[in-house]
Amino acid sequence: MNLLTDVSEFAWSTVIGSGLGGLSAAIALRRTGHQVTVYERYDFSGEVGASLSLAPNGSRFLEEWEVDIPSAKPVVLQKLIRHDWSSGNVTAEYPLGDYRERFGTDYNNFHRIDLHRHLKNVAIAETGGGSPAQLKVCHRAIKLDPAQGKITFDNGKEAGHDVIICADGIRSQMREQLGIIPDVAPSTSCCYRCIISTKKLRELGLGEFAENSAIEFWGGNGIDKIVMSPCSNHEVVSCYCFYPVEKNNLKEDGWNISSTGENLAATFPDLDERLRTLFRNAEDVKMWRLYNHEPYPYWVSGRCCLLGDAAHPMMPDQSQGACMALEDAGALGILFSTKYAHLSILEKLQLYELERKPRATRVQESSRRARTDITERIGWSSANDRPGKLTIEEICGYNMHSHVAELVERISQASSSNPPVSEQR
Ligand SMILES: Cc1cc2nc3c(=O)[nH]c(=O)nc-3n(C[C@H](O)[C@H](O)[C@H](O)COP(=O)(O)OP(=O)(O)OC[C@H]3O[C@@H](n4cnc5c(N)ncnc54)[C@H](O)[C@@H]3O)c2cc1C
Repeated sequence: MNLLTDVSEFAWSTVIGSGLGGLSAAIALRRTGHQVTVYERYDFSGEVGASLSLAPNGSRFLEEWEVDIPSAKPVVLQKLIRHDWSSGNVTAEYPLGDYRERFGTDYNNFHRIDLHRHLKNVAIAETGGGSPAQLKVCHRAIKLDPAQGKITFDNGKEAGHDVIICADGIRSQMREQLGIIPDVAPSTSCCYRCIISTKKLRELGLGEFAENSAIEFWGGNGIDKIVMSPCSNHEVVSCYCFYPVEKNNLKEDGWNISSTGENLAATFPDLDERLRTLFRNAEDVKMWRLYNHEPYPYWVSGRCCLLGDAAHPMMPDQSQGACMALEDAGALGILFSTKYAHLSILEKLQLYELERKPRATRVQESSRRARTDITERIGWSSANDRPGKLTIEEICGYNMHSHVAELVERISQASSSNPPVSEQR
């Protein structure tokens, strides 16, 4: 079948992986009237995480999809704060409180578990626009036929779909099924994460950390950095604590290795004593090693595309990994809407890659630089202070709808003479 001339109605799509990216894709596509099935390898019993901020470029899509944001218990961020590493004195502040006015949407800080639970409920809800997505847990995809749109699961079942969105995370196995061999190297950084309840913080005399609607930083000039923020309607405070690998030479893989508050405090002997007290009293202390992922040569093959961390794994230092996954989902929602019904499936997927890959790659690269240089982080940047630097305006002021319209126009003019990239694979 020549898929380029196949302009049949796009009605059946599937998503492999129900993380934040996969669930967002399911919501975006159901809102545009499609039947979506989501396959997840687990049953959600082991959901993990700490805080996760969605800058306006991510939060914007939640609003477009009519997701009731307050139900996911956000803290609306008002500023970024920098502290001196040892004394804890405030050295700089950057306001975020005008983001709705400037960029149309708030900068929301969630607990990852709250957001995940809520997106799952929205994706499968009987109410809301479109048909409920079908969620099939305990379905680990093990094989993919990109040309035929066929998936094989470890439980022996098979499924065929018009379009398959591979949102199976940073260690994606589906990526390799699309012929992509990842180029990954261990980074020199490891990270702890921990959470603490506001109640406990108040008992420790550290209630101010829960009251600030801010992301607060210590360090960041080099590998060591602490990133603290409140989430869950200010009921919880979360910390990410980056440190050089030599400190404990963490070899074990995974991002959920348990540790203790004492170990965490001992990793940062000369840090602000208030934080070391917080660490000793923290709950759910986990650690993991970070990896550098080079950008992939392509994201689309046949009827399949990559989305989220499967497509663009990045360092966490721009707080943009999930935002990029939501943007990916937003792009699919736009391209597979009735506005672009005249395009074939392959054309839409080609446009998806064209639209998303350059922007996500740029964020991936700037996240790597921000790992050891906090002045690279959006928010602390201005358009003028360093040529080529990623800025908050570029990230939060982005209008995807008009960019997609431009690309569709461009590709419509070119398609008669050049075959699409994905057809050449
Ligand atoms: C320390 C840290 C802080 C971060 N902070 C932020 C932040 O503030 N803001 C932000 O925007 N981003 C942040 N991120 C990034 C963000 O967490 C990720 O980019 C995002 O969660 C990726 O979502 P995903 O759906 O692509 O992948 P995942 O969340 O990994 O989901 C993948 C899903 O696929 C399933 N799966 C895997 N393989 C299969 C298979 N073969 N078959 C079926 N299912 C499968 C998995 O079980 C999982 O449910 C942070 C990341 C880290 C590490």
